[in-house]
Amino acid sequence: MALPARHHSRSRINKRRSHTALKPLVFIKCPHCGERTLAHRVCPKCGFYKEKEIIDVLKGLSKKEKKIKQKEIEKGQ
Ligand SMILES: [Zn+2]
Repeated sequence: MALPARHHSRSRINKRRSHTALKPLVFIKCPHCGERTLAHRVCPKCGFYKEKEIIDVLKGLSKKEKKIKQKEIEKGQ
């Protein structure tokens, strides 16, 4: 039950806050392009997640940019 702030000792506050620290991010190697990406997220480089294309990363790029990007993705495989 909530108590007025003065009833909470610094020790009690610090004990509660000991669990609020950020955990280190988990990186994995993308199985499609080989890029280091966050686990359980769509790869920002190739747009793949679990062997399926989720985002078309080549959409909206010029012909020249598409060629460069495609090469980059294929190089990592
Ligand atoms: Zn990827």
